[in-house]
Amino acid sequence: MKNDDLAYIDENLHIIKERCAEAVTKYRSSNDNVRIMAVTKTVAPEAINHAIELGIDLLGENRVQEYLSKADFYDKSAEVQFIGHLQTNKVKYIINSVSMIQSVDSIKLGQEISRLAVKNGRAMDVLCEVNIGGEESKSGIAPSGLKELIDGLSELEGVRVRGLMTIPPPSDSDIFLGRMKELYDSISSEYKGMDTLSMGMTHDYAEAIRYGSTLVRIGTGLFGARDYSK
Ligand SMILES: *Cc1c(COP(=O)(O)O)cnc(C)c1O
Repeated sequence: MKNDDLAYIDENLHIIKERCAEAVTKYRSSNDNVRIMAVTKTVAPEAINHAIELGIDLLGENRVQEYLSKADFYDKSAEVQFIGHLQTNKVKYIINSVSMIQSVDSIKLGQEISRLAVKNGRAMDVLCEVNIGGEESKSGIAPSGLKELIDGLSELEGVRVRGLMTIPPPSDSDIFLGRMKELYDSISSEYKGMDTLSMGMTHDYAEAIRYGSTLVRIGTGLFGARDYSK
């Protein structure tokens, strides 16, 4: 692929940055920093590397297998975080290549992350994924179980809980973004070391910033519609 063909990414990133800045100006304090993550599922490494050339310094990976098959081709200057549903038996494949696992929703998964982090002489930052809409189809811990999960994770060696992540239901998303803000405010006043609220995707990132997001995860809005046939 020639870089000419990737010019749409330049335009898309420009729009995203502008909308993020606008939302921060409108709803947040001027020194609030909102990080932009590029979500890479189905996206070719050439396009991902082009985004990195344009200044993207954070990639979000959903699927272990796909990530492993593409990682060698990535420009290594960007940080990689895992955001997809993670099976316990796959933690070993990513423990040394990602800086954060955003999708922790069970103590069992936390224990495996802890075991492998200790074994590899490192600590792993994690977020608790919250199923804020109570949707059966989605992973994530129910809000009612969140404190128990954080209490459990806090006792594990090599695991640092940095905050919360969510994918709100597509309809009424601002109601759920608001609930996440309340939940995050209460959790972060109770526990030390919380600094990340990961919410906001292509269709709702400006709203998510309004409700306190510190990290927006953008796929389609940056790289275009996903082609799952490839
Ligand atoms: C795919 C995905 C995104 C990005 O979604 P878009 O709507 O394409 O921006 C964000 N977060 C998670 C967990 C995802 O799986």
